[in-house]
Amino acid sequence: MLTKAPKGTKDILPQEIYQWHYIEDTIRRISKAYGYNEIRTPVFEHTELFERGVGDTTDIVQKEMYTFLDKGGRSITLKPEGTAGVARAYIEHKLYADPQPVKMFYLTPCYRYERPQAGRQREFHQFGIEVFGAPEASVDVEVIALAMTLFKELGIKELALKINSIGCPKCRPDYHEFLKKYLSDHLDELCSACKDRYEKNPLRVLDCKVEGCQPVIKGAPHMLDHLCQECSSHFDDVKKFLDAAGFEYIIDPMIVRGLDYYTKTVFEIISDSIGAQGTVCGGGRYDGLVEECGGPSIPGVGFGLGLERLLLVMQSQDIQIPKPTACDIYFATIGEKAREKAFQLAQGLREKGISSDMDHVGRSLKAQFKYANKLGARFVGTIGEEELIGGQLRLKEMETGEEESVAFDQIADYLSARRN
Ligand code: ATP
Ligand code: MG
Repeated sequence: MLTKAPKGTKDILPQEIYQWHYIEDTIRRISKAYGYNEIRTPVFEHTELFERGVGDTTDIVQKEMYTFLDKGGRSITLKPEGTAGVARAYIEHKLYADPQPVKMFYLTPCYRYERPQAGRQREFHQFGIEVFGAPEASVDVEVIALAMTLFKELGIKELALKINSIGCPKCRPDYHEFLKKYLSDHLDELCSACKDRYEKNPLRVLDCKVEGCQPVIKGAPHMLDHLCQECSSHFDDVKKFLDAAGFEYIIDPMIVRGLDYYTKTVFEIISDSIGAQGTVCGGGRYDGLVEECGGPSIPGVGFGLGLERLLLVMQSQDIQIPKPTACDIYFATIGEKAREKAFQLAQGLREKGISSDMDHVGRSLKAQFKYANKLGARFVGTIGEEELIGGQLRLKEMETGEEESVAFDQIADYLSARRN
């Protein structure tokens, strides 16, 4: 128990962290290119924020939250997603008084009490973006474009972009009635969760994954056929901007998204190469969210993208992430005086940002070379009595086996010049 991480969590080990850094660096670079700034919000919030900001008829709030009382008796929840906290911060710091829209991105761990399986963990990581204060369809497509550009930069192929519109508080109630009427004729064919959804939020029946519900879902009326004028022209604009940017997409009337406060545009980006948990990115517009969380009536749009699933897709497509050089130079030493010298030289190089290492456990010279190899050191410099007297050492480039004599005080210049 003590030596096993909790169920549904995973350590990210030093030898694999470069993959995360690569993805995170790419995310930061692309977000900047689109004009998005990073926001960091707490890992825990008041439970009520998620009940409102995610919606209390959702699976997340009903079944999946890590909620506990803190020592002061407050109900606290570990964030199950990133949007609610960002909306709270936008309101708390009155970011709506700044020039709009406010465009933000986040990288955060999320916590959901779910049954762990491939692509589904209890602690996982999301990249997300949020735009508050922009009602136009162009920004819906900017959000989608940012995600698509990320996939492209990472070399990912064969992802399907699916879009839909789920209307707004003006047109959805009529459609709800229509849908309810249809579902009421099929209630006994639905699972028990769907019977409950039928009462509370019938749209979410369409999101049910239970096999037995599928025939009923297939025959259900579509929100797309019931959009009001405003939602319908917004959806037309979304398609127009998607076409302008050259993105292929599929209109899928069954996409409704898990969260309650979505309006108009919803979308998912799906891979069929990682099994059942194929949705890598999901998002849409939530014009009611900021107000629901206690702020002014301000539109919002964004997405959440699962980093574990992103890595799974990259692995399934055999995409190689470049491994950075772990160590520029390793000093192999013979004797205590040489160790002292190596320590001094390594310190000087490290201060210059050149990664340097040496033996700390009393290995033989041969074992030091073996270890340097394992570290992936680019050069190894051996220091013994002769080198101490001469003030220079032979630097061996491990890949080519080439050797060259370099004075102690020239090592930094030599390595900098040899950097690719
Ligand atoms: P799913 O239908 O797979 O349960 P969701 O609708 O609950 O997904 P969102 O709330 O939209 O997912 O979260 C956005 C993204 O976060 C998902 O598309 C997915 O990539 C990732 N994600 C969600 N839940 C998990 C989890 N438990 N483990 C790993 N990644 C997750
Ligand atoms: Mg889920």
